[in-house]
Amino acid sequence: LTVGVVRESLPGERRVALVPRLVDRLVRRGLRVVVEPGAGAGVLLADSVFEQAGAEIGDAWQAGIVLKVAPPTADEVARLKRGAVLIGFLKPLSDVDGIAALDRAGVTAFAVESIPRITRAQAMDALSSQSSVAGYRAVLLAADRLIRFFPMLTTAAGTVPPANVLVLGAGVAGLQALATAKRLGSRPTGYDVRPEVADQVRSVGANWLDLGIEAVGEGGYARELTEEERAEQQRRLTEAITRFDVVITTALVPGRKAPTLVTEEAVRGMPAGAVVVDLAGESGGNCELTEPGKDVVVHDVTICSPLNLPAEMPGHASELYARNLTELVELLVDGDGGLAIDFADEIVAGACVAGRERGAA
Ligand code: NAD
Repeated sequence: LTVGVVRESLPGERRVALVPRLVDRLVRRGLRVVVEPGAGAGVLLADSVFEQAGAEIGDAWQAGIVLKVAPPTADEVARLKRGAVLIGFLKPLSDVDGIAALDRAGVTAFAVESIPRITRAQAMDALSSQSSVAGYRAVLLAADRLIRFFPMLTTAAGTVPPANVLVLGAGVAGLQALATAKRLGSRPTGYDVRPEVADQVRSVGANWLDLGIEAVGEGGYARELTEEERAEQQRRLTEAITRFDVVITTALVPGRKAPTLVTEEAVRGMPAGAVVVDLAGESGGNCELTEPGKDVVVHDVTICSPLNLPAEMPGHASELYARNLTELVELLVDGDGGLAIDFADEIVAGACVAGRERGAA
C-alpha cells in the first residue's frame, strides 16, 4: 500500500502533510511513501531530504492513502484513484459539495476535524495541534500591531505598565494565546462560556473573567447561546472590554456561525491604538467589524482577521500535523501495511465523512 504526500495548491498554504522524520515510521509499517515533487517546498524540505528518509518522489495522487492539509480542489479530486483513502482538513460541516464530490469519486475520506475529542485520539487531534499554533501566532500578531509594550518595563525614562490582554474563548487556541501573552509579560485574562475551563485559564497564569453566563453543549463543546443570553453577554463584554489593550477572540460553536462577542460599541470603548485579533474569521468572526482575511482600523482600533495562521508558521505546524496523520494512518492499516478500515472503531467511524459504504465493503 502506498501513502502519497501531495503538494498543497491553496494560495498561502505552506504546510506539508508529512515530514521526513516520520517517513521511516510508515515504511516500518510495510507502507511505501511517495512524495509529489516540491511538496515540502513551503517548509524548505527538499525532495532529496524525503528521499534520504526512505520516500520515493513521484505521482502521489495515485496512492492508496493520500495525505493532505487543505481540502482538495475539484481538479485534485479527479486525480485521486477510485477506492483511495484521503485524509486532511476537509471542512465536513461547511463544504457539503466538496464532501459529496469525494463520495462520487469513490474516495473514502477522513476529515481530521471530525476525529472524536476522546483521550485515545489525542495524538491524532489535528484541530488541537493547529489551534495551538494559531493561538501562539495570534499573540505575536497582536504584539506586532499594538502601539505599546506587552511587558512591564522599569527604565530610566519611566515605568511602563504591562498590556492588558483579553482572550475570548479558552479552548485550545485560547489557552495557548493566554500562555503566550503571559510569557510576553502582559497581564492576560481569559473568558469562556464553559465554566470548567476557569481552572485551566488560571493554570497558565491568567485571570478568569466571570460574566455569569454558562453554555455547555455536547461532546465538550459550547452550545449556541439563546437570543437573551447573547444580548446579555454582549452587554457585559462591552463593559469589560474597555479595560483591555488587546482582545484575541477564538470562540467557535461547531457547524454554526461564530458568536458575535465584540460589538462596534465595544471597539469604540477600547483605548486608541488597541488591537483585536479575530481567529474566528472563517466562521464569520467574533467581532462585528471583522473583515475576514483583512486588517482594518476602526475607531482607532486595529482589527486583524488572519485566516490561516498555522500556514504562517509551517515548520512546527507541519511537524505536529504529520504526527497526527501518522497516528491515524496507523489506525487504518494492518500489521502488513494493508488497508484495514474498522468502522466499529469510534475514531474511524467518527472521522469518515465520505465513501463509508465502499470502505466497509
Ligand atoms: P472550539 O475551537 O470549538 O471553540 C473555542 C472556544 O470557544 C471553546 O472553548 C468554546 O467553549 C468557546 N466558545 C464558544 N462559544 C462561546 C461564546 N459564546 N462565548 C465565549 N466562548 C465561547 O474549541 P476547541 O478548542 O476545539 O475545544 C473544544 C473542546 O474539546 C474543549 O472542551 C477541549 O478541552 C476539548 N478537547 C478535548 C481533547 C481530548 O482529547 N479530550 C482534545 C482537545 C480538545
